[in-house]
Amino acid sequence: MSLNSTDPGLINSLLSAVAGGTLDIVDLTAPLSSGTPTLKLPAPFVNLIDFSLETVSGFNDPGPFWKHHNIHTGEHIGTHVDAPSHWITGRDGDDVSQLPLKALVAPAVVLDFSAQAAADPDFVLEVDHIQAWEAQHGVLPAGGWLLLRTGWDTFADDADAFLNIDDSGSHTPGISAECAKWLAEETAIAGLGVETVGIDAGNAGAFDPPFPAHYYLLGNNKYGVTLLQNLAQLPPTGAMIIVAPLKIVGGTASPARVLALVERSR
Ligand code: MN
Repeated sequence: MSLNSTDPGLINSLLSAVAGGTLDIVDLTAPLSSGTPTLKLPAPFVNLIDFSLETVSGFNDPGPFWKHHNIHTGEHIGTHVDAPSHWITGRDGDDVSQLPLKALVAPAVVLDFSAQAAADPDFVLEVDHIQAWEAQHGVLPAGGWLLLRTGWDTFADDADAFLNIDDSGSHTPGISAECAKWLAEETAIAGLGVETVGIDAGNAGAFDPPFPAHYYLLGNNKYGVTLLQNLAQLPPTGAMIIVAPLKIVGGTASPARVLALVERSR
């Protein structure tokens, strides 16, 4: 409650800014359907099922006045949140129902390496890249999210281009093992958000350790978000992200709705 009649209060100020267009809500979430690109692990590993809707009734005998579906999906499908318990290094850590709310509503910065990823699909972010960015924009936000823009969301409607798999594996951008270790151990970020199908580079199974973003970040109680879109609509600094995974008890991940609040000048 505001203390005097001229103070609109924080929530009213926020709502007025949204209504007036000075605070933009950007949807960072990929549409979730049976066509959403998903991770394809090579044999002998076993893949999760893709997302699908199963009709139980549709205004017919099983339910004459209603339509409803069963949802079939793996945890790590579409835009989703990785919890520490997903990885062997974080196996005793939080599951996806236990993530602190202050990590899910937090500042976000966008590091744009779309030009580098366009030139080299195996581009990986290095510590030097982040430190050069920090020299210009300030340190990564404590308790906030590093969102890595690679332009990969432009391929999200084309699974072949998105996964970019050839005889030597998948070729999509990510972060190096050294960078993953540094982010996990030397920075105060809550998590890493990416546009690709997972938080590791496509060929990160061959890195040391394998899948270092998972290994280091989840092993240090940090989180991942994948398959983000529309990062081009966010400024380098100043956005607020809202990450909303389902509260799946014991879950190692969950599909999520991810939104950003961005201040616009008029
Ligand atoms: Mn995942």
